[in-house]
Amino acid sequence: MSNEEAIIVRGARVNNLKNINFKIPFNSLTVVTGVSGSGKSSLAFDTVYAEGQRRYVESLSAYARQFLERMEKPDVDEVLGICPAVAISQKNSTRNPRSTVGTQTEIFDYLRLLFARAGKTICYQCGEEVKRDSPQVIADRILKEAENTRFYVLFPLSFTGEKSEKPKSKKKNAPDKLSLNAQLMSLMQRGFTRLFDAATNEVIELTSPDSFTKKSFEEIFVLVDRMTVKHETLTRLVDSLEICFIEGGGNAVIQLFKEKGIERLSFSEKFACKNCQIDYLTPEPQLFSFNNPYGACPTCQGFGNTIGLDLNLVIPDKDVALAAGAVEAFTKPQFDWWMPKLIAFCNAEDIPMGIPYRDLSKEHQKLIETGKSKFLGIRGVFDWMETKKYKMHVRVFLSKYRGYTLCGDCRGGRLRTEAQCIKIGDLSLPEVCAMAIKDAQVFFAKLNLTDEQGAISERVLFEIKQRIKFLIDVGLDYLTLARLAATLSGGEAQRIQLATNLGASLVGALYVLDEPSIGLHPRDSERLINLLKNLRDIGNTVLVVEHESEMMRAANYIIDIGPGAGELGGQVIFEGDFKGLMKTSDSLTAKYLRGEAQIKAPAILRSPGKKKINIKGLREHNLKGFDVEIPLGMLVCVTGVSGSGKSTLVHDCLYAGIKSERGDWRGQVGEFKTIDGGHYVDDVILVDQSPIGRTPRSNPVTYIKVYDAIREAFSETTEAKKRSLTPSHFSFNVPGGRCDLCDGDGTVTVEMQFLADVELLCEECKGTRFKQSILEVKYRGKNIHEVLNLTVREALHFFSHVNRIASKLKVLEEVGLGYLRLGQSATTLSGGEAQRVKLASYLAKRAGEGSLYIFDEPTTGLHFDDINKLLSAFRRLIEAGSSLVVIEHNLDVIKTADWIIDLGPEGGDQGGKIVATGTPEAVMKVKGSYTGKFLKAHLKQSKQGLKIID
Ligand code: ADP
Ligand code: ADP
Ligand code: ZN
Ligand code: ZN
Repeated sequence: MSNEEAIIVRGARVNNLKNINFKIPFNSLTVVTGVSGSGKSSLAFDTVYAEGQRRYVESLSAYARQFLERMEKPDVDEVLGICPAVAISQKNSTRNPRSTVGTQTEIFDYLRLLFARAGKTICYQCGEEVKRDSPQVIADRILKEAENTRFYVLFPLSFTGEKSEKPKSKKKNAPDKLSLNAQLMSLMQRGFTRLFDAATNEVIELTSPDSFTKKSFEEIFVLVDRMTVKHETLTRLVDSLEICFIEGGGNAVIQLFKEKGIERLSFSEKFACKNCQIDYLTPEPQLFSFNNPYGACPTCQGFGNTIGLDLNLVIPDKDVALAAGAVEAFTKPQFDWWMPKLIAFCNAEDIPMGIPYRDLSKEHQKLIETGKSKFLGIRGVFDWMETKKYKMHVRVFLSKYRGYTLCGDCRGGRLRTEAQCIKIGDLSLPEVCAMAIKDAQVFFAKLNLTDEQGAISERVLFEIKQRIKFLIDVGLDYLTLARLAATLSGGEAQRIQLATNLGASLVGALYVLDEPSIGLHPRDSERLINLLKNLRDIGNTVLVVEHESEMMRAANYIIDIGPGAGELGGQVIFEGDFKGLMKTSDSLTAKYLRGEAQIKAPAILRSPGKKKINIKGLREHNLKGFDVEIPLGMLVCVTGVSGSGKSTLVHDCLYAGIKSERGDWRGQVGEFKTIDGGHYVDDVILVDQSPIGRTPRSNPVTYIKVYDAIREAFSETTEAKKRSLTPSHFSFNVPGGRCDLCDGDGTVTVEMQFLADVELLCEECKGTRFKQSILEVKYRGKNIHEVLNLTVREALHFFSHVNRIASKLKVLEEVGLGYLRLGQSATTLSGGEAQRVKLASYLAKRAGEGSLYIFDEPTTGLHFDDINKLLSAFRRLIEAGSSLVVIEHNLDVIKTADWIIDLGPEGGDQGGKIVATGTPEAVMKVKGSYTGKFLKAHLKQSKQGLKIID
């Protein structure tokens, strides 16, 4: 392969890379694999992507270029053929709390254009379309009348001249003759010499103001033209109407003398409903922006909710019937007056009181909530209470039922009323955004625009459909466009970025992705792979860090890094295609792929005992009201396709449920009826992938609390004593010993226009984070900066004689983090690494033996070989008496589970049910379980090894 066909990298030494050479073929899908910590990210992100970004900055403004020298240049001899690089990472990078799936994918921007160009404004009062009458449109309309019909073109007089502003006061203070005369004079000067009296249908010829004998201008019009309906009159009619609009304050009137009689038609240039006199706003893109004060709902400022009465608190259990006290707030004695009224009202309105509140029709629920004529609905009673707020106990009562609730004005649509009146295919913009993306696809496919609308919005519609298709392709069909970006998981956020980039259809770029399969059920990996191939086929180079075997099989080129982690890795142990890897390599990756090395399922499964957590009536998000039993003291896997409801069940209901039962929870708790069995566990601990700290000053050793002991060790050296240094001088969290310029971060952040912020090495301490005087203190030959630069494995050796340090470091190694550097800042750890640091901190405490641990995709970032280590850490937790609930897609983990709870069958509305539950064996027997199906195939395959398909 020559230079033109590949990106060539020579002498890469970033992090642990051992001066390696490799290439990435252009227009190919290249997978970088290897055990965790072997150097995959160092290769893909810190070397190739970083260089691509530097080249990109080089091509930018002088302002951006001035930082180039200070942007750390990757430690590499030569990179040839690099192109502009785009990184698609799992960091959920949104800072705007209003940002949604729609805004992130730019679909919302196109929708705003579409609604501005092709939307119809429908009056909210009468349901008629609101139109602005243009002279042309009016003329076309009039010329449809029978040929030769006579008609007058008029404008109302009361609106002329300076007096035009006060139509309302017209009657009360009828104008005196003087001001009438002044107006008539002015009219004549402008060349209007005829008036029309609509009361008598007479034309008044104006020769002087005295020709007008009436006392007011009521029903008096100015006659602009007299015409008959003929095709040739079109231009003249348009001209006359234009005069009306100019002289008549935007109003025109046509009086038709038809055979059947007289008809008078009013037209207005104003954008208002002719029936209801309600003014509307001209559709334009900014009217549809909830980030813009012009378009945002004024009540909630575009957030969609406000603090107010929370009906979920007033009616806490929707399975209770009205007769049985569904409106719990009003079952108290001081409200006993309300019940008889409710009964009378329900009888009168035929509202069934004996069925669960949930089963009442939407209209009936609304009647109960808002009331009708004399009956005070729930809101009415609360409004009435508001007037009694001077009483303490009333205030206390009211505060119990307050919460974030849907904004009453925009009903969560976030836009002002006028914007919500604009419809396409009968739906408003917020309604389109509230649909699941798969339903939106159907909606747009069926959408029938008129020719004119279609022509102006063809391109926009194409962009929308295209992007929706990409979202479906990345397996996010169950989301809505209105879903807040901040509530997405890392994997979902990454796939949204992927879809967005596909929409931008950049070519000639290098895309670098970090484990895009995270959060995806094996059922959907094929679609993801096709998407990446698509990205490649339109002319890009795609570089993916990935452990998943299907992705490797699909790759054109594979770079296997290893053999071990950290210092023991950093070498290219295989480079070539999948076939070559399978045939010639004896790396761990190849051995697992060939089935020579395996993740073993346990010989005996634990079977559920009587200790379990029991949750009944699960209803949060898409959960369809089922009950679930979670056996304790074993490894329970919660599975199902993306969006099936796993996180909702595990995070919102199980975790938040037990926590709040213990009074240890401030956030939202998912909706369910009852939870019991919580007393069987001492504590419930969520070990998720959120960062272990948000500043570069937190790191693995500060997190597992071993840094204190290390600082003490330094302060006890003779050198430190001589300078009277205390342990706090060796901290970068308090001033004293740390570098004063960067406050111990080691880096400073510079904001770049148009680009992501850039981190630069601190000039003062050169990244060592400490003052020179502190660095002069050595412990067994190393200063504090050098110690923080040791890997966990090296440090274990270095501190082997100090038990309180070594024992804790040992745990980090046990969870597979032996390659991490002690001082590596929290901000550079991947989600999976952060999760394992947390796991280590719990193992190190040796506490919580009766605890319930919850993990969300703990295999993130893990190679087959690391998964083995993780599973043995899990087993140790269980043997010590803990329970584990794990959300996982990885079939190697699922097959070792004692118990599986499989949700689905699909994502979103089509999911939220239990599809199968039991041992892996049992789940494989359930038809309709995707997990069972893929597990079966996986077990067969790992017995035989992967087939090579040409
Ligand atoms: P992988 O992506 O294969 O899991 P990495 O490339 O992230 O591995 O890490 C390779 C080695 O380099 C590890 O020992 C890791 O701790 C180290 N490393 C990664 N990033 C940094 C950094 N910013 N500073 C210092 N060491 C790092
Ligand atoms: P999984 O964890 O299986 O991928 P989730 O529990 O995240 O699935 O989602 C289940 C359903 O609930 C999906 O339709 C999802 O869009 C919806 N959902 C999840 N979180 C929220 C939220 N914060 N707001 C609105 N809908 C949500
Ligand atoms: Zn109307
Ligand atoms: Zn500094």
